[in-house]
Amino acid sequence: MLKFSADGNEFSRLFADSTLRVDYALCADRGKVNAYLHEMKKSEGWAGRRHNLDSLALKGNGQVTMRSADGGEVLYTQSFSTLMQEWLSTAEAKDGCRSWEMTALLPLPREKSMIELTLTDMRHDTIARCMTVYDPADILVAGCPKTVPDSVYLLRSKRNDAIDVVLLGEGYTQAERDSFLHHASVAVDEIMSYEPWLQSADKWNFVAVFTPSRQSGVSVPIKGKWLDTAFGAHFSTFYSDRYLTTPHVWALHDAASGVPYEHIVVLANTDEYGGGGIYNNYTLTAARNEWFRPVVVHEFGHSFGGLADEYFYEGDVMEDSYPADIEPWEPNITTLVDFDSKWRYLLDDSVPVPTPPAKMGKYPVGVYEGGGYSAKGVYRPAFECRMRNNSYSTFCGACVSALSRLIDFYTKD
Ligand SMILES: [Zn+2]
Repeated sequence: MLKFSADGNEFSRLFADSTLRVDYALCADRGKVNAYLHEMKKSEGWAGRRHNLDSLALKGNGQVTMRSADGGEVLYTQSFSTLMQEWLSTAEAKDGCRSWEMTALLPLPREKSMIELTLTDMRHDTIARCMTVYDPADILVAGCPKTVPDSVYLLRSKRNDAIDVVLLGEGYTQAERDSFLHHASVAVDEIMSYEPWLQSADKWNFVAVFTPSRQSGVSVPIKGKWLDTAFGAHFSTFYSDRYLTTPHVWALHDAASGVPYEHIVVLANTDEYGGGGIYNNYTLTAARNEWFRPVVVHEFGHSFGGLADEYFYEGDVMEDSYPADIEPWEPNITTLVDFDSKWRYLLDDSVPVPTPPAKMGKYPVGVYEGGGYSAKGVYRPAFECRMRNNSYSTFCGACVSALSRLIDFYTKD
């Protein structure tokens, strides 16, 4: 069986230095989910990794896998999560039908290839699959003209394997361009002030791309306020007032298409409190709220790092999100079903499992009950962490370790 070496030669043999963007429509009908190909486009340049092509760093709630035409060999794979899969847990989804946008970025294969999209549920069972074929000779795979966006690099690495993050502005008018660039600088400075990003500062590119909105601000449904903005973001996602998201994922990718990017951070021009972050999908954060700095780091922990929320509240409507008999794929929570696959390597045998909260001083990293929205049955690595508390100033040891491994996955051969 062919194993892919880590060097770029293998990448060059399989792929052109170009991107294949695959847009999907994810459709849910009273709990039954389907995924459909919407469109494929190709463009110059590939910002993603050129090694670890056939392996996943995290399982995510879905995967896109490209295989050779005979279906045998994995050429490239990537994992992600979607807002739709969160919606499936809402009461509205039980009787409702909705469609959602999703985009996968893949290296452009030189040969005819199979592309499989798989969505999984919280039990990790497959709930939808979409098979499609990419043929280099297909004249209907659109070529994207090279665009020159209004962009400014805020951090630029000398490494050619650096991780590329694009920052987009939501709800900034043309006259507010400087305000967006200021908020983008604050976001980058704040993210890079945390470990493990601080020690890996040479591995990151952050580029701000300005897209003017017709109106200033962001839609706030609970106030009856709806605005005409570049990406149609709004609060009250799933009727949770602080949950700020956009359903217009394709528009985010359209706006970013002129620069190399792997990860998307959207800054919203509002002083309301809130945000959202979805693994390998996007971060969206309110940029003029007093909690902007910790929230953008927290949400980037979700969207880049695949980290789970470590907070929980008694009686949280989402407290049954993680089944007790399934080990979650997120690296910073555990149900103890397979704790060896999590941060056990950070603990010595003297650490009690679970760790009593009274011992948090003695055990900065332990196994504390409560996390992933549930007070019982889900455990987190530390009493406090950026993934739990906006007032706490660092990630816990397990989150730092998980993020470091992910950075290495993207940047090391
Ligand atoms: Zn943590």
